[in-house]
Amino acid sequence: MGKSYKIGIIKGDGIGPEIIDEAIKVLDATASHFGFELQYEEFLLGGAAIDETGSPIPQETLIGVNRVDAVLFGAIGGPKWDNLERHLRPETGLLKLRKEMGTFANLRPAIVYDELVNASTLKPSVVEGVDIMVVRELTGGIYFGEPREYTPQKAYNTMVYTKEEIARIAKVAFDIAMKRNKRVCSVDKANVLEVSQLWREVVEEVAQEYPEVELSHMYVDNAAMQLIRQPKQFDVIVTGNIFGDILSDAASMLSGSIGLLPSASVGSKVGLYEPIHGSAPDIAGQGIANPIATIASAAMMLRYALNEIEAADAIESAIKKVLADGYRTGDLSAYDAKEIVSCSEMGSIIANYVAKS
Ligand code: NAD
Repeated sequence: MGKSYKIGIIKGDGIGPEIIDEAIKVLDATASHFGFELQYEEFLLGGAAIDETGSPIPQETLIGVNRVDAVLFGAIGGPKWDNLERHLRPETGLLKLRKEMGTFANLRPAIVYDELVNASTLKPSVVEGVDIMVVRELTGGIYFGEPREYTPQKAYNTMVYTKEEIARIAKVAFDIAMKRNKRVCSVDKANVLEVSQLWREVVEEVAQEYPEVELSHMYVDNAAMQLIRQPKQFDVIVTGNIFGDILSDAASMLSGSIGLLPSASVGSKVGLYEPIHGSAPDIAGQGIANPIATIASAAMMLRYALNEIEAADAIESAIKKVLADGYRTGDLSAYDAKEIVSCSEMGSIIANYVAKS
């Protein structure tokens, strides 16, 4: 047996437990195929935590996530907890968890699978083969800048970045590019904003440490246009908090399907790996949720937190094969489905494909 890793598991609410169970099924098959060991420790968050402990983020969760190598998370929230006071709501627990984990980089891949090109609202010829990673700075910029003020006559926010904040997010982007196609596009508004001028200078400086990576710069308005016009030109996009918020949502919709897309929030400590969708209370408990976004998040965890690159590749190839073979959960039934399968069947098929890889 090779290495052993500790994985924190947060199932959460709604479809959270169903999709996480399938990700664990696939992770177990992958670990035994590639000869490493995974030990899981479960933590409470969100509605499930409120029901059991009265708090959306119990102390045990805040402490526990520091003793694992990575955290895999499903989703939280639902109508049952919507009327609670803000500080007691499930979302408050998740925001606090992200803050405490110090995750300053949000990684959002936008992948268009060949078999699902028709799920996009854009023409197949435009989106075919798209594989972009948006790296968004998560804890700085205008959402957190001081001073900030609201009065009924005048309100303002401040966009601030320090050299250190820019350098550390740029490093994340360049490191990821080294594991991909070695191209980084840094998005800013340097023709108008001083903060973007510094952003550009620091990204250029960091680029010196990565001579193999090709760096380009783009203004954010052009980037928004280019994402729709010719998305295939991008490999890794790195950008600040507010630009990244907007661009990562736009990029994710190139694929047209919320049930497929993973994400990761990473920093200097433990990273959090989760699907981009929510807890889908409308379909919870029916066994019809699409577990692929969560399984793809588990693959990102293997790649970026555990450096088990081959294992991550195997899961991603299995996902592609499952879709190529025509297996679809209900949400994708309209797109070249040969067989509609349940959440659990989808997990088993992917696990089998990995085991046979
Ligand atoms: P949602 O993403 O949960 O659902 C939107 C639509 O997409 C629903 O029709 C749902 O059935 C469908 N859907 C989502 N994931 C799917 C999957 N894996 N397979 C098949 N269909 C899927 O967003 P919402 O309805 O706006 O929010 C529901 C709850 O989730 C709310 O309480 C919200 O606060 C919470 N939420 C949590 C997170 C998180 O935990 N990170 C993120 C977003 C929303």
